[in-house]
Amino acid sequence: MFAGTNGTPSSSVAADFARNVGGPQRAGVGENFVKFALGKTTVVGLRDGYVDMPPTRLRKPDGQPFRGDLPPSIPLVDGKFRLSVNAFLIIDGESHILIDTGAADSWEPTLGRLLRSMQEAGVAPSLVDTVAITHTHEDHVNGLVAADGSNAFPKLKRLFIPSQAIPLFDKIDRLARFRNVRVAIGEGFKIGPSSTAVSALGHELGHMAYEVKGGGSTLLVWGDTVHVPAAQFERPELTWEFDADQDKARASRLRLLRRSNKPGHFIAGAHLDFPGVGYVTRQGDGYRFTPV
Ligand SMILES: [Zn+2]
Repeated sequence: MFAGTNGTPSSSVAADFARNVGGPQRAGVGENFVKFALGKTTVVGLRDGYVDMPPTRLRKPDGQPFRGDLPPSIPLVDGKFRLSVNAFLIIDGESHILIDTGAADSWEPTLGRLLRSMQEAGVAPSLVDTVAITHTHEDHVNGLVAADGSNAFPKLKRLFIPSQAIPLFDKIDRLARFRNVRVAIGEGFKIGPSSTAVSALGHELGHMAYEVKGGGSTLLVWGDTVHVPAAQFERPELTWEFDADQDKARASRLRLLRRSNKPGHFIAGAHLDFPGVGYVTRQGDGYRFTPV
């Protein structure tokens, strides 16, 4: 049921090779960033850090948590899932669009590295003119304010927020200063020359993915569509305790996996193992994720 992801049937090697052609190409790597070329667009995977979560947050199809019955192939660190927290910068001509912002100092001390990761990648935070968020959870929005209380992106002109998420955003006192630059968006809205909003409802009100096109390929930056990559690709019916609407989250995950299981389609996930960029193929009743 939870076969390890290491065994690759030889029959799929040729298919994997074909799937890997033309997608994001690694163009620069550091400890905390990976730059990918997607045609003329650059996508930078940035590490904010990680957070450890108890396995009981993963829910079986009947809605019950796993309690001592988690398959042993799922890797745990001190009895917990270690979830990477990633953000993605899209450099598209002159525009620098950051999708999600990390947590800064607002949550675990293992988070809050984003601004340093960006500097390591050679990108000054003052170049970021646009931020688009997938949803309003703290590890995705609170990094708009740096740990010292300053604006993390001092030249920010536009903050794109899914329209359904606006009431949640407006309750976050820490972010009140950004209400004058926030723009409500819906599915199909273009956040940049080659990037478009794609609805991914379920994890939180308005949860949004962003599709980046370049070089004949598509990269879907899908936020929190998968939280536990070692479990939810193989069994996409499993949900996460913090999915506000578990059924909608499951349906969105299945829909986006189907949509991504095509030549030229790639995904980038906020909680996939850093940098979280790769492609999916069918495996058994579920899917397999292969990092680029
Ligand atoms: Zn998250």
